[in-house]
Amino acid sequence: MREVQGRQAPDDILIFDNYSAGYLDDDGHIINLLDSLSFSVKEGRALGIVGESGCGKSITGLSAIRLLSKQLVVQGGAIFLGNENLLEKTEREMQDIRGGKIAMIFQEPMTSLNPVLSVGFQIEEVLARHRPELSPDDRRSSAIELLREVGISAPEKRVEDYPHQFSGGMRQRVMIAMAIACHPLLLIADEPTTALDVTIQAQVLALMKRLKGRGSLMLITHNLGIIADLCEEVLVMYAGRIVEKADVETILKKPIHPYTQGLIASIPTLRGERQKFLYSIPGMVPAAKNFPSGCRFHPRCDRCMDLCRVEAPPLTKIRDGHSVRCHLYSGALS
Ligand code: SF4
Repeated sequence: MREVQGRQAPDDILIFDNYSAGYLDDDGHIINLLDSLSFSVKEGRALGIVGESGCGKSITGLSAIRLLSKQLVVQGGAIFLGNENLLEKTEREMQDIRGGKIAMIFQEPMTSLNPVLSVGFQIEEVLARHRPELSPDDRRSSAIELLREVGISAPEKRVEDYPHQFSGGMRQRVMIAMAIACHPLLLIADEPTTALDVTIQAQVLALMKRLKGRGSLMLITHNLGIIADLCEEVLVMYAGRIVEKADVETILKKPIHPYTQGLIASIPTLRGERQKFLYSIPGMVPAAKNFPSGCRFHPRCDRCMDLCRVEAPPLTKIRDGHSVRCHLYSGALS
């Protein structure tokens, strides 16, 4: 068991413990991207990470699997898988963990699948690496079974096909088959349906829902509808910081951070009423080199106070399981 922010956490699979990362600019300075992230993914549960593009969601996912570009620099903290600090692993050790204990599904499957190898070969490659006890025949049967499981019809034939012979939705199913091939403890899905047509999105979501519960899930998305469908807990990120974390019900129905409230207000279907105008949060997420002082959301916040411009709010616990980073709740005003 490990202490996370003073709390015993026996069922945590993945723990970000005060993790910070940045990138080196042309002058050799480190520009902070992720600031002191502390959260965990629990066994058998799904955590959604939500925020606009540029909030640091994908870099958080890539940090968990140590697939960051060479320009990225870890500034502090730790990332634990069970009791092992992934930041202390060699690249060789990480290769055993990736695809074995942690698997990742990316937004665009065509860029993740090798176009010159059959899908069967690619699934079998994962099995050969992480389950060496399987014979070539067993690997082939497993690949066919996995394709069947993710809804590819006639898998005995399709196993020989190449990625370009599959539609976008089918390629994403193949990626999911590869990801679940070795029963990972944690599946990280980064915008798994964003590149797909709406009807295909629904099918892939239904598949993910069906597979849910076999392990833990970290779902990265800008789409709160998908979070509502799949996740139990939610982290809202803004400009590299966690601004609110809570169970999905609280985030969707009673968010208290002005940014989360803005995200929710931007979804027309959750209001259950016709709107004349769809709300949108004014302004844009700043680039990391232009992150504002104090609360990074202050230039876009309609409740901004003088204090917000100069002092970064702490992540304040509201109650068990619900924390928020905003001066309105930090006690700094009383
Ligand atoms: Fe808005 Fe201030 Fe809260 Fe930031 S700290 S979200 S600027 S009220």
